[in-house]
Parts: sequence; structure tokens; C-alpha cells
Amino acid sequence: MTKKHEVRIDRKKLHPWLDHKLGLLLKECAKEGIYLIITEGFRTVAQQNALYAKGRTKPGNIVTNARGSSYSSQHMWGVAFDIAINDSKRLYDTDLIGKVAKVAKSDKVGLGWGGDWKSFPDTPHFYLKKWGSGTGELKATYGTPAKFKKTWRMKVKRKKGLLIWKDANKKASLKCVKNGTKVRVMHVKDWYARVLLADGSVGYMNKKYLK
Ligand SMILES: [Zn+2]
Repeated sequence: MTKKHEVRIDRKKLHPWLDHKLGLLLKECAKEGIYLIITEGFRTVAQQNALYAKGRTKPGNIVTNARGSSYSSQHMWGVAFDIAINDSKRLYDTDLIGKVAKVAKSDKVGLGWGGDWKSFPDTPHFYLKKWGSGTGELKATYGTPAKFKKTWRMKVKRKKGLLIWKDANKKASLKCVKNGTKVRVMHVKDWYARVLLADGSVGYMNKKYLK
């Protein structure tokens, strides 16, 4: 096995919270001596349609039941990624993928696993659990992936700037960012928005000043 992860996707196109959890998964898997290839992340309508055509109007096996226009793949919402093992002989080794799933589902990482799906198990697939195991809640709440993506970034609206705190108890601050700065928002809770910083670390900001 290559002792290195290989991330083939653009992580910036993932929901910030998923990007964060992907970072945790890579870290925890390396501790177990398992190295991954991240093969798929965000998919556009056109990319999803091309995948849907496989095994139907195009050669190959059927790999998805989700049409692009239906927004029924979690990949189109940026809340899922697919993995393989970074070892050409064991790309989809059941044992190793099972170990990765155990790490991914643990409290340390907290991802959902497509291998637990009853009707169409998808073992290389991992997703953010916040909106359930499908796309129904996302569709009902946001309508389209484009509208959903607008919630991933917020802008600081405060003349004197805004502090980023290290934790939700506001014991220590990391830095102050200028009015107008855009931040990647993982989620909003209580008084704060949990944000993902450029170096991959996490901070807390007063949601009252984020628009
Ligand atoms: Zn997938």
C-alpha cells in the first residue's frame, strides 16, 4: 500500500463541514495505516447525467439510479465523497473498506456510510448525516443545489471586524477578520457559526454579524 492519501477531487467544492470531516477521516485512517484515494466529490447536473447513462444508453454497468435533473445524488449537493484504498491490488477490498467505515462512523469523524443503505448499498460512498441518508430533506429545504451552496459562505458585516474564537466558550480568540471577509460556514448553532479556516482549522464566530 502507498503510504500516502491521494485526494483527486477539489475539496473546495464540498460542503465545508464535509471537507472538515474528510480531513478528520484522512487523519484517523493514517493512524490505522490505511491510505485512501478520494475518487469523487461534487458532481454537476451534466456529470450526473453522464453517470446515469452508464449501463442504460451508454456501455458499462449501471452505477446510479439518480438522474441529474432530479438532484437525487448527494454528490450534486456537495455532501458526499467516494473512496478507494490507495493500493492497486486492494482498491475495493471489503475488509479494508469496512475498517474505513468503522473510523468514518465513529464519534471522532461522524460520517454516514453508503454501505449501510438497504436497497442500493454503496460501500465507497460517505456522506454528511445532517440532512439524512438521502436528498429529500435537502430538496425540501433548499430546492436546488445552487441555493444550498449559497449557505456555505457568509460575509462579515461589522465595521470593526469580527473575532474568530478558538472554541464555543470564547476563552481564547484566534484572530480578528475585516468587515466584508467571506468565511466558509460548516454549521450555525446557538450564538455562533462554526467556520472552516484556510489552514483547515475550525473557529467560532458570532452569527449575528454574518450575512
Ligand atoms: Zn458516492
